[in-house]
Amino acid sequence: MKILRKYLKSLIEFIYPSSCPLCNAHVETHGELCGDCWTSFNWIDGAKCIHCGFPFASSFDLGPNMMCPTCASGKCELDLIRSACVYDDASRAAMLPYKHGGRIQYARFMSRAMIWALRDTDISPDIVMPVPLANKRLWSRGYNQATLLARPIARAFGVRMDLDSISREYRENMGHKTSAQRAQNVHNVFTVRNPDKIKGKKILLVDDVMTTGATFNELHRVLMNAGAVAVYGVTFCRVAHVD
Ligand SMILES: [Zn+2]
Ligand SMILES: [Zn+2]
Repeated sequence: MKILRKYLKSLIEFIYPSSCPLCNAHVETHGELCGDCWTSFNWIDGAKCIHCGFPFASSFDLGPNMMCPTCASGKCELDLIRSACVYDDASRAAMLPYKHGGRIQYARFMSRAMIWALRDTDISPDIVMPVPLANKRLWSRGYNQATLLARPIARAFGVRMDLDSISREYRENMGHKTSAQRAQNVHNVFTVRNPDKIKGKKILLVDDVMTTGATFNELHRVLMNAGAVAVYGVTFCRVAHVD
């Protein structure tokens, strides 16, 4: 079996030589980023909010239990959030083709970075749930970018991925900017289909990008109403300025 796996690996390597998914430079492991691309991202590996993972600009040691103003004022509903990197030119350049250009191969390095982002937490989710897309968006895009990220994360935790307990109504993207506008646009957008699968469960939500946290907060409300006991979130990147 081991020999067969090794043979298949060499065959795949021969047909698809390992190259960085972003710039095509040679890399050792299939699907991994090259060093240059890796360092172009602003990974959240310094001081951050203990609750939502918001990165602090200061490199001073603020202590292990520091909270951002949003969490300190109780406006972040989730039990814990982590993101792998900051939403900036580098992550936007990867995110747009991943989300809208069919570059689904990016899911590999993105999900690995998200598992890394959760390394300093002790969460033990029962379910991993990608943030649902409205059917109309799913049909036009052909895939839910969050589902591709959630699959390896569910595997890493050894738990199932939930794709059908919550559905999402289609709403036009109105280009909302502020937290209040975004919260209004997702209000009542989700419907619970299978409350039995949610009741008593600790749920890890997965999304590609976190902007104001409005989508996570709305899902938290719906899931807790359906009997969930904890809701966590993880994203590849997040907006790291306050509006
Ligand atoms: Zn590269
Ligand atoms: Zn926070």
